[in-house]
Amino acid sequence: MTQWIPGWTTRKPERRDLILALSGSDVVKPDTGWLHSGDSSLFRDNLPDSVSLGSYGGRDVFVTELPDTDTGSQELIPLRDALLVLGDAPVEMLSTGFQVWQWWLDHRYCGRCGAQTGFHPRERAKWCDACGIPWYPRLAPCVIVVIRRDDRLLLAKSSRTKRHFYSLIAGFVEPGESLEGAVHREVKEETGLEVTNIRYHASQAWPFPHQLMVGFFADYAGGELVLQEDEIADANWFLPGDTPPVPPETTISGQLIRAMENEISRGGIPV
Ligand SMILES: [Zn+2]
Repeated sequence: MTQWIPGWTTRKPERRDLILALSGSDVVKPDTGWLHSGDSSLFRDNLPDSVSLGSYGGRDVFVTELPDTDTGSQELIPLRDALLVLGDAPVEMLSTGFQVWQWWLDHRYCGRCGAQTGFHPRERAKWCDACGIPWYPRLAPCVIVVIRRDDRLLLAKSSRTKRHFYSLIAGFVEPGESLEGAVHREVKEETGLEVTNIRYHASQAWPFPHQLMVGFFADYAGGELVLQEDEIADANWFLPGDTPPVPPETTISGQLIRAMENEISRGGIPV
């Protein structure tokens, strides 16, 4: 049974509600589970500024942020660890919580006129009365692509990370661009290659701070590897089972790599 149901209410939290407490990029984790009861001593006399997320086990859930000084002896779990390492974390709820809280912080004032925003009367949006503009939570679509050339797949090491992983070509979709257009452009810019037969595989919310990763397969169509040095430190073609370290399968990149390895190993032609 799914206990977590995304949702929305404009009412303020009460003691009977559940609270997802954040502290910077950490989750403030209670001894059991991931949510605090609204009557926890952690919140002292008044519940802090909070915003609705949905419900868990039939009780409404709100998200808030606590200053470092108020987290007490609670365990702090970095969001990345919760999403990548801990197999039992409620990934969708935590991801939603971080993105909704970021939206709440970022839209206290109207981006057009500077007036203080309030609630939209019906939807999860901030609202500027003066301009009549809703401010919704931001989502930034990004493409990520695993490229196949015969029985090998392309893996690339980012110039921007200290991690030892080899991963996939990825980048933000630009205004006016289709997802397929973004795949062609990012692959060309970062590797010099042409691709064809682009097909959707899977997607993943990536709350750092609000990406939606859209994962594709593609086939090599032409060109030689010419790396964009400020983005890619190294890239090469690898046989399935003979790759350098790659991201875990809790990530869309890990899932795409594994799926392509399986496809090549089965000898199948991608469909
Ligand atoms: Zn305004």
